[in-house]
Amino acid sequence: MAEAHTAGTAAGKLVIRNIGLLLSGDLARPILDADAIMAIDGRIAAIGKAQDLDAEGARTVIDAKGTALAPGLIDSHVHPVFGDWTPRQSQLNWIDSFLHGGVTTMISAGEVHLPGRPRDVVGVKALAITAQRSFEAFRPGGVKVHAGAPVIEKGMVEEDFREMAAAGVKLLGEVGLGGVKTGEEAKRMVAWARKHGIQSTIHTGGPSIPGSGLIDKDVVLEADADVIGHINGGHTALPLDQIRCLCEQCKRAIEIVHNGNEKAALYALRTAGELGELERVILGTDSPAGSGVQPLGILRMIAMLSSLGEVPAEQAFCFATGNTARLRKLDSGLIEIGRAADFTLLDKAQHSAGKGLLDSVRLGDLPGVGMVVIDGVVRIGRSRNTPPAERVAEVVGQ
Ligand SMILES: [Zn+2]
Repeated sequence: MAEAHTAGTAAGKLVIRNIGLLLSGDLARPILDADAIMAIDGRIAAIGKAQDLDAEGARTVIDAKGTALAPGLIDSHVHPVFGDWTPRQSQLNWIDSFLHGGVTTMISAGEVHLPGRPRDVVGVKALAITAQRSFEAFRPGGVKVHAGAPVIEKGMVEEDFREMAAAGVKLLGEVGLGGVKTGEEAKRMVAWARKHGIQSTIHTGGPSIPGSGLIDKDVVLEADADVIGHINGGHTALPLDQIRCLCEQCKRAIEIVHNGNEKAALYALRTAGELGELERVILGTDSPAGSGVQPLGILRMIAMLSSLGEVPAEQAFCFATGNTARLRKLDSGLIEIGRAADFTLLDKAQHSAGKGLLDSVRLGDLPGVGMVVIDGVVRIGRSRNTPPAERVAEVVGQ
C-alpha cells in the first residue's frame, strides 16, 4: 500500500545547500542567483547564499551536491479515480510512480474512469464532493492531487455549481466528456462555475474513446473555459489552423499534453511563442489513458518541447511549474518566499551527451531525479524511474 501523508506540519526547518542551479519556475527570470533555500514548516522562508541563511536548529539539512533544484513539477491534466489506483490500465501506485518522475502536484480533469460513473446530476455532484474529500485526505507518497472535478451534464442549474463550490469543489472536469457538447450550453455552465470560483477545462479535439465526441475550435471559443485542455488533442488534434485560431482568439491557458499529437504540441508552442505569450503554456500528461500511464510524462514533455521546440530548458521547466501554478492559482510551483516547499532535485542523466542538466534536456535527454521534497519533507531519494542522475543530493543532517 502507498503511504498517506498529511500536510507538512512535522517539517520544522529545512535547509538545502550547495544547489548548483536554482530553477525558479518563473519565465521572466527562470534561473536564480542563489545556492541555498530554507523552508520552515513546509513554506519557503529564505533563498540566497548558504552563508547568509540561518541554519541554526534545522531539522533537516540537504547537500544538493551541486545538482539542480526546480519547483516540484505539476501535471495539469490527470484522470484519477480513488486512492493510488487506476482502472484505466488496471494499475496500482501510479501516483507514487509520478512522484518518482518529479511530480508533486496533479490536477484532475475529471474522475471519468470510475466504473459506473454516475451521469445524473445528484450523482455527478456526489462523486465530485467525494473525490475532493478523498484526495484532500489521502496523498499517495505525499503528492497533492487536486481532485473532485465534475463533468457537466445536461440539466445542471446554477444552484448545483453554488452547492458544489460551497462543499469545496474547485475544478470542473473536461467539458465535453459528459452530455454537454454544444458551445452555448457549455458557456452557460462554465460561467456559473466561474462565478462560484470553480475553474474549468475543456476537452479539445477529436473523441478520446468510443462514445465521446469532437470539440472543435468554435465550441472551445464559445464555451470560454479557463483552460484550453489538451490543445494538441487527447489524442486526436484539431487541424493546425484551428489551433492557431485558439491561441490567437481565446486568451485562456494553452495546455499541451503528453498523450496528444506531438506535431500539434510543437505547433501550439511555436504559436504561443510567436504571440509572445509563453506564460500561457502549461503541461499535463492526460493519463491514465489509452496510451497508458507515464510517470516520466512531464519530464518527457519538457525534454521534447525544449529539444524539438527549441525552447531553452530553463523555460520549459516553467511550463510545468510556475505557469501552471499561476494559472491554476496554486501555492506551489515557484521558488518564492511563502510558497510551498515542493522541490525536485535533478541532474543530467549518466552518460548524457549534454554538458550539464540544461544542455542535456536541450539535447532531448531526460534528467535524472535525485530527490523530491513536498511541504518541506523529503519524500524520496534517487528515483526508481528516471535514468540515474550523475550526482544525487543527500540528507546530511537530521
Ligand atoms: Zn480530453
